[in-house]
Amino acid sequence: MAKRETRSLTVVKKQQLTPNMLRITLGGEELENFPQDQDGGYIKLLLETDKGSLKRSYTIRAFRSESLELDVDFVLHGENGHAGPASEWASKVTIGDHVNLTGPGPVKRISTTEDWYFIAGDMTALPAISVNLEAMPRDAKGYAIIEIIEDADKQKFNSPEGIEIRWVINPHPELANSILPDALKVLPWLEGKPNVWLACEFSGMKQLRDYFKKENNVSKNEIYISSYWKIGDTDEGHKKAKALDKALNILD
Ligand SMILES: Cc1cc2nc3c(=O)[nH]c(=O)nc-3n(C[C@H](O)[C@H](O)[C@H](O)COP(=O)(O)OP(=O)(O)OC[C@H]3O[C@@H](n4cnc5c(N)ncnc54)[C@H](O)[C@@H]3O)c2cc1C
Repeated sequence: MAKRETRSLTVVKKQQLTPNMLRITLGGEELENFPQDQDGGYIKLLLETDKGSLKRSYTIRAFRSESLELDVDFVLHGENGHAGPASEWASKVTIGDHVNLTGPGPVKRISTTEDWYFIAGDMTALPAISVNLEAMPRDAKGYAIIEIIEDADKQKFNSPEGIEIRWVINPHPELANSILPDALKVLPWLEGKPNVWLACEFSGMKQLRDYFKKENNVSKNEIYISSYWKIGDTDEGHKKAKALDKALNILD
């Protein structure tokens, strides 16, 4: 993310979207020069904790320039005392509380160059997937496989009719590996080449990267693939693992 100004914002709304997803709407005059058309891009929340200042990445689900409001959807992870500072902040915050953020970082929209679409992610990617599905050509066809924690976490969005939405349930994403790879690999491929957009937990990301790039020769122009978090690691550890993975892939 390029160095950008820090904005001090206020929590103006808190809405429980589904059992494990909380929407926090941030507002304030410092959003006046916030760039438009960045939905699906990300911001970094700056959190002050007893461990010092921490940064956490979250997707811009929607920005409304008329009312200077920014929606961010938080997965409420961390049962049994394992909550991370960002998830905990979201669950405890109240209207009128302040938070600082930087961004936005670049939007990673799904490419529209190929014949059909393969979209997948877990709940952390659901905000970005929603933005992508809503922005796609109406005659698009393909799949969106979305891992959620429970059935009631399904969301409705305005997606093209030809995109088959498949929800898969993983009640304990923090304990088990993502079930996305197994759910995705059994799907028959449509005719032609797919555009792939995928974001999920680190180990699932690596399996799916191999599946698309090595086993199915999807070229780098047709794929966006990213890990958004890592089982058993804070975001600081996740970033180190990502950097190492990148270095190893360059050597590969
Ligand atoms: C570009 C980008 C966009 C993102 N957008 C969103 C978004 O819109 N909404 C969203 O909820 N997340 C999003 N994430 C993921 C989010 O940044 C991470 O989940 C982050 O680790 C949460 O920080 P934390 O302080 O709650 O937990 P951390 O301190 O990072 O981790 C504490 C513990 O919680 C575990 N953990 C972290 N995240 C999860 C999870 N989702 N499920 C289960 N266990 C977890 C870790 O493995 C660790 O053991 C995004 C990440 C990226 C890179």
